[in-house]
Amino acid sequence: MSIFPASKEETDELKDLFQGICEWCDREYPSSSLVLHFIVRDDGNEQAGPQSPDPQKQFLLLCSACHTDLHKIPLPYHLQKDLMRARPQALRKAIREIFGYKLAPYEPPGDFDLAEIYEECFSLRSLDLFRAGG
Ligand SMILES: [Zn+2]
Ligand SMILES: [Zn+2]
Repeated sequence: MSIFPASKEETDELKDLFQGICEWCDREYPSSSLVLHFIVRDDGNEQAGPQSPDPQKQFLLLCSACHTDLHKIPLPYHLQKDLMRARPQALRKAIREIFGYKLAPYEPPGDFDLAEIYEECFSLRSLDLFRAGG
């Protein structure tokens, strides 16, 4: 999932969660001076979507001055990732909750057992034969 564009409610909840503190300069700002910065992939292709489905890996909350600088420099992807990595576990969890994202263990899709299906067909057939009096 992509959290962008985040709704006004989601954005406000994030600003509350970070207590108005810019993740780069660590200073407190009124919520109107804070912006959500969309983490851009290594290839710089924003259209390709987020690097991770996890909402807390898709943005930085920055004051407008830091946000402008980040785009001007621009700050390499791995340094943006370092900023996100500094977040405490409880904060990550709270971010995921805002966007209703659940970390799920990986399950391979379409996992079925052919032998089991064969066995099931076979036993149904035997049952039919039995009913038919054969
Ligand atoms: Zn800042
Ligand atoms: Zn940005």
